[in-house]
Amino acid sequence: MKGGSIGFRLAAWYCAVFALGLAAFGVAAWFAMRASIYHAIDDELRDRIRGVTLFMENQISAPSLAEIRDEFREHSVLGPGGDLFQVCDQSGQWLYRSVPLENANVTIALPASLPASRFQDMRIENHRLRFYSQRIAVDGKEYTVQVASLMTEAYEALERFRLILLLAAPVLLLLASAGGYWLSTRALAPVDAISRMAQRISIESLEPRLSVPQTGDQLQRLSETLNAMLSRLAFSVRRMKQFTADASHELRAPVSLIRTTAEVAVQRRDRSAGEYLQALEEILEQAAETSQVVESLMLLARADSGKQVLEAAPADICAIVRSASDQGEKLIRNRGSKCSAQIPEDPIWIQADAEALRRALLILIDNAAKYTPAGGSVAIRLEARGGLAVASVSDTGIGIAKEDLAHIFDRFWRADKARSREQGGAGLGLSIAKWIVETHRGSIDVKSELGRGSAFYLSVPLRHSNAAANP
Ligand code: ADP
Repeated sequence: MKGGSIGFRLAAWYCAVFALGLAAFGVAAWFAMRASIYHAIDDELRDRIRGVTLFMENQISAPSLAEIRDEFREHSVLGPGGDLFQVCDQSGQWLYRSVPLENANVTIALPASLPASRFQDMRIENHRLRFYSQRIAVDGKEYTVQVASLMTEAYEALERFRLILLLAAPVLLLLASAGGYWLSTRALAPVDAISRMAQRISIESLEPRLSVPQTGDQLQRLSETLNAMLSRLAFSVRRMKQFTADASHELRAPVSLIRTTAEVAVQRRDRSAGEYLQALEEILEQAAETSQVVESLMLLARADSGKQVLEAAPADICAIVRSASDQGEKLIRNRGSKCSAQIPEDPIWIQADAEALRRALLILIDNAAKYTPAGGSVAIRLEARGGLAVASVSDTGIGIAKEDLAHIFDRFWRADKARSREQGGAGLGLSIAKWIVETHRGSIDVKSELGRGSAFYLSVPLRHSNAAANP
């Protein structure tokens, strides 16, 4: 259940990240709330000190300490925050001390030893209190005023908040994990569908295609890419099957001809030596043709598998064309046609496997000879133009119909099977020539008119620096 485990892993990651985020949020929220509570309490404590200071500025002229205390008591009852405050002068004498602070014997710093102001947190009889002490000067004398605020409620609120966070976090986490798992399995469902569909595809049945979700996302692209790959595979398999069928058909014909010739020769015993010789010659001819087809097939198979490599080296294409033309001329003349060649004297340098390129040219010349009836003519030309060396083989032969031009480079394709076989062709020549020329980063083009003749153009790139290659 690999698909399931991806969904589970995604959900687990999602859950872990969410848990971390939640923890960070909880801690930050708790500290933010605490800071804002402290901020509010500190503001209130500062206000109260200001109130006490104002009160002292108004009342300090009271005749006796006892009266001042009374005034303070009245002030403390009315003042905000109750009577949690105490005041002492520079000699440590109390001007006022509220009862709870006196009972708890909360000490106070003398004005001289107090930094301008100070906050303190203290725990008194299970109560948390926050103190604020400030040194003030009234009427030329220094005093320490200390006010306090009960923090119990604030801490209760903080504790409640902490509890809510602790209780809500697991619930949220559970919901998020379930949601994450649901989402990831939902998102991966099309992948499951793709793999189920892919299981139905085999080399024998490459026709089914994946359904493409129109979502514009990676899944759509994945399905489209797989479908395109399937189409390419189906095409290659079709080609391979066709190739195998054509190859076996092509080999069956000469082999059965060899067999029949041999059988007839053996069965009829009253034959002369001359007749036997003729039968053997026929067999030899068929055997030679068969090895020719086998050799071509092997070459194309090696080319397809990338095992047939051509060794490119600086070569003079004039010499290559001249050699092919000399050999081809005999073929053409033997068939009763004329042959002319126009090849420049000066070398034209290209990067090539000379023997392979000669073979490609010979295929074109051989075809021109085969498909040009006696009395016709074949012209072989070579020229350099537009960074290319262009060799052409033109004939005044039977020509090729327009609709056939697209197929002549296909393996085993022949316009007229009987005629081609008669001429010793298996329909592989042009496929081999095309492979050779394309391996040289060149191309073969053809112009032809039925009944008037054909012209094949073989183009290969010139060497970058033609002059530098001159030996
Ligand atoms: P083949 O061995 O049959 O000549 P090729 O691959 O060389 O095979 O050529 C394929 C087919 O193209 C030939 O069977 C023929 O029908 C056509 N063809 C090739 N060259 C010529 C040409 N010069 N004139 C007319 N038809 C040609």
